[in-house]
Amino acid sequence: MKYGRTYNFSAGPAMMPEPVLEEIAAEVMNYRGSGMSVMEMSHRSKVFQQIADEAEADLRTLMGIPDNYKVLFVQGGGTLQFAMVPMNLMKNGVACYVETGAWSKKAIAEAKKYGEVKIVASSKDGNFSYIPDCSDLDIPAEADYVYICENETINGTTFFQTPDTKGKPLVSDQSSMFLSRPCDVTKYGLIWAGVQKNVGPAGMAVVIIREDLLRDDLPTTVPTYLSYKTHADAGSMYNTPNCWDIYCCGKVFKYLLANSGLEAVDKRNREKAAILYDFLDESALFSGTVRKEDRSLMNVPFVTPSKEQDADVVAATKAAGFDNLKGHRSVGGLRASIYNAMPQEGVEALVTFLKEYEKAHC
Ligand SMILES: *Cc1c(COP(=O)(O)O)cnc(C)c1O
Repeated sequence: MKYGRTYNFSAGPAMMPEPVLEEIAAEVMNYRGSGMSVMEMSHRSKVFQQIADEAEADLRTLMGIPDNYKVLFVQGGGTLQFAMVPMNLMKNGVACYVETGAWSKKAIAEAKKYGEVKIVASSKDGNFSYIPDCSDLDIPAEADYVYICENETINGTTFFQTPDTKGKPLVSDQSSMFLSRPCDVTKYGLIWAGVQKNVGPAGMAVVIIREDLLRDDLPTTVPTYLSYKTHADAGSMYNTPNCWDIYCCGKVFKYLLANSGLEAVDKRNREKAAILYDFLDESALFSGTVRKEDRSLMNVPFVTPSKEQDADVVAATKAAGFDNLKGHRSVGGLRASIYNAMPQEGVEALVTFLKEYEKAHC
């Protein structure tokens, strides 16, 4: 790897594409003759407005976002969305949630502060190692929306099919799979993603919301800043936005467009993940923890037969120059996060290393 960079398998913040980092580095002292970096620039300047406009336009092209959806850049990272979603969308005060792991549990806990939460499907009984059947959910007539975490970063599961919401708006946390594959936006009422997994620096979320879900009649106790309509009406510049983050994300959108779009990204991600999953399926020492048909292409949790050996492997990978393979503290084991920007060579190198480890220890 160039610049002494490491293969960083972190679940987030995660790797960004090297050509994007090079461009950012080249522009950091003087952005295109403006005499300043984007960090120092007024968000009301023409030059920044163009950066923001292009970021939105490129994301729209990349995902094929229809005109009746707004694209918002909101500060507060992913976690604030756990509150903003129920604050803005609970009109009747009832929402349905699918419980598939750590991040949907957080969303559920937060939504309970604002209204009634009905868990319509769960994989708790299987330690969140699979995606429950969502083809015939029991959704009450008064439900305001149906919520999923489309890729559970910690548990390593992903929805390859969206639930049948029986006509209710589907709300999806796409944080750890955003832009990893094509997405039919028309199936959703709202998509949100914390950007530090698959796009840019931490601290911001992209929100894609169908216009009819923007409300004028929110309770007066909802802070102005936490109304989606505030951000929609102000073009995500109600206050000083995270200009730096919008700029970096915009670069990644352009990079993905230049690299043939999301079909091509998906193909690369499938091939990349298969290298690791094929190895885990054959290995006598390592095994994946998720039901095959629900395996995430982004986050790959795996274990050895013992906690002690898990820890030994983590230490060995670290010594060999692979970073952040320790599983999340809530589930243990190991986890390789292989987002868009993880090169295939990184996964190949990891598999080669794990094979050698296995040979030496079995
Ligand atoms: C990381 C993550 C979040 C939280 O993002 P923060 O920006 O750290 O608040 C939420 N949901 C999912 C699926 C995530 O992976």
